[in-house]
Amino acid sequence: MHMATTHNLGFPRIGARRELKFALESYWKGESSRDALKALGATLRQRHWEIQSDLDCVPVGDFSFYDQVLDMSFILGNLPERFRDFRGDPLDNYFRVARGRSAQSAEEYAACCAGVAAGEMTKWFDTNYHYIVPEFDAHTAFTLDAAQLLAQVAEAKAQGVNAKPVIIGPVTYLAIGKAKDNTDKLDLLSRLLPVYAELLQALAAQGVEWVQVDEPILVTELDDAWQEAVETAYNYFKRVNVKLLLATYFGQLRENRALLASLPVAGVHVDAINGRDDVAPLLKLLSADKVLSLGVINGRNIWKTDLNAVLDWIEPLAQQLGERLWIAPSCSLLHVPVDLESEQRLDAEVKSWLAFAVQKLDELKLLAAALRNGRDSVKAALDANQAAIDARRHSKRVHNPAVKAALGELDAKLGQRKSPYAQRAARQAASLKLPLYPTTTIGSFPQTADIRHARSAFKAGRLDEVDYKAAMRKEIERSVHEQEKLGLDVLVHGEAERNDMVEYFGEQLEGYAFSQFGWVQSYGSRCVKPPILFGDISRPQPMTVEWIKYAQSLTSKPMKGMLTGPVTMLNWSFVRDDQPRSVSCYQLALAIRAEVLDLEKAGIHVIQIDEAALREGLPLRKSQWKEYLGWAVESFRITANGVEDDTQIHTHMCYSEFNDIIASIADMDADVITIETSRSDMELLDAFDDFKYPNQIGPGVYDIHSPNIPTLEHIVQLMEKAAERIPAERLWVNPDCGLKTRQWAEVIPALTNMVAAAKTLRA
Ligand code: GLN
Ligand code: ZN
Repeated sequence: MHMATTHNLGFPRIGARRELKFALESYWKGESSRDALKALGATLRQRHWEIQSDLDCVPVGDFSFYDQVLDMSFILGNLPERFRDFRGDPLDNYFRVARGRSAQSAEEYAACCAGVAAGEMTKWFDTNYHYIVPEFDAHTAFTLDAAQLLAQVAEAKAQGVNAKPVIIGPVTYLAIGKAKDNTDKLDLLSRLLPVYAELLQALAAQGVEWVQVDEPILVTELDDAWQEAVETAYNYFKRVNVKLLLATYFGQLRENRALLASLPVAGVHVDAINGRDDVAPLLKLLSADKVLSLGVINGRNIWKTDLNAVLDWIEPLAQQLGERLWIAPSCSLLHVPVDLESEQRLDAEVKSWLAFAVQKLDELKLLAAALRNGRDSVKAALDANQAAIDARRHSKRVHNPAVKAALGELDAKLGQRKSPYAQRAARQAASLKLPLYPTTTIGSFPQTADIRHARSAFKAGRLDEVDYKAAMRKEIERSVHEQEKLGLDVLVHGEAERNDMVEYFGEQLEGYAFSQFGWVQSYGSRCVKPPILFGDISRPQPMTVEWIKYAQSLTSKPMKGMLTGPVTMLNWSFVRDDQPRSVSCYQLALAIRAEVLDLEKAGIHVIQIDEAALREGLPLRKSQWKEYLGWAVESFRITANGVEDDTQIHTHMCYSEFNDIIASIADMDADVITIETSRSDMELLDAFDDFKYPNQIGPGVYDIHSPNIPTLEHIVQLMEKAAERIPAERLWVNPDCGLKTRQWAEVIPALTNMVAAAKTLRA
């Protein structure tokens, strides 16, 4: 039988009960000590190594108080200039980079440091995890500070586990950072490599055998210069006395296979979930002295692995590779919740199909046991796994023939408005009678403490449904009343009854389940709990119609119905792995389309369908964008475009990068799109201008992320810039995004100025 070395690329650090989140927030508020926080960090590391102690190698350095990329910046001594004035505990400066610090009094300044802007944050590849972007310029220099990582290696060793430090590789580190001047980031490579080599030597000196060096950049398209950088880097490390496991994940290697195989490293890890097709050709290229680690357990979803199917595939590989075969999850388990055992309320049938981080490691151990001692040695466990896989495959909860039939009947007409935009716009103008520069908001109004208390009382059974609904209606009344006083043109109901824009709809759709503790780190102390889309999606009954009708009954102004679009529902959920994402998306589209048509029937003639997450679903490789945008845009069109000409469809996207997807955005054919622009000074409208975007646009003029109140002058100035690019007849005036995180005391003066600015513009 065969040895198969088991290892893990990273474990979720936040804790099964989000312990790290609460400890961080308490420390930041000054309610607990730095020592208490550090002690909790050590406890979590210890607990997580304990959970992984049966593996042949466990990751070290995957724990972080905020972000592993920021940790890497500290290890490399790459702190932007503005953070170097700090005097005090380095952990506090680390948080200063992560979170920024507002302007300081003279005493605070003397004691510590100045106020500074936080490091920029952006998404880690195609995940919902956000890292702090490394900053570079022509003067960037690197110096090693490995003390913390070395200390953690020592901790792990003391605990008796086989520690495999995990670091971000130099090429990925450069690639995901940002040059603040015109520096070519690759020019920094020669300064970076000696520090990396020093780090690797320091780990070697501590008795480490293997280091996992993460280079996920290898699953993206690399030009010649970047490919050369990969070669240069790993040839440079040839001399270090430690074995490197070069880890790639999240996608396919494709044309980078030969490059990866040619590198003088001791082993490579590939994502055998997303990049299964890479494995056979890679194997042919890989020299016989190298370890091949296969990521055979999906680190990006919450489904049980079909273990027999994996064994069918890897048994012959194990035969062929012997000791050279390692097995692992496809990527760090950072992207899945910690422990399914915590779930007490999850539907038992659905629960039996799931695996969180702890369970995924159990699956890994089972695979290894089957490889080492034969499948019979773990027969009972494999049979149980097979039973769960079969049950899911055949469950009536998953498969709804009516939904599948409806999907079979999709045709292009479904996504087609009755008339072209110009005709619709004329009819909408006649019926809605809006002024030039119409004003509106993006949907939510402040989620006040009252709202949150009422909802938690309702969920806990302390408030009955009748009283809860009455409380929410009062909130709707309040927001309608405020909007009328402000003189806004198109009103919203304010979304008081919604906890979250995806969960709210997921809870009302068949095919969705919700965990209690399925938290995944989004950034720092922030976690999200993605709903689980497990089955064919259908809408048993209208979801929003009663609320919106009620809101409309309170005003003679047009009330905008408010929905979350199918692509955003999909991209912010854990989704099925038994059908393409596109199929799940089309199912969502049909369900939400029915809601759109019901709203229209109920007399609502302005309907907004939010697609906040459309952009983040873009594949890592540009060559795959077209396919994704094809079904994503078609899903939106199916959702939105069944309405009559005089119903006005809005969509909203809260980001400001449209250059590369503008044609697809135009293809959605929404009558109005509202976007985030206030922080970019309207420059992003150039993309719309250059493309000659034909429909209406509401460029956000009020940065809702900030408590600052925008002035009338500033808003007028922004809109004048907008009008240089887009004809005034097609412009709306609105905030960047929803107002749920703001206070009424901020919202009222800000919107007062916004409405006054619109009046100024009209005059
Ligand atoms: N309608 C939502 C709101 O106003 C939109 C939120 C979002 O785009 N993230 O809150
Ligand atoms: Zn938004």
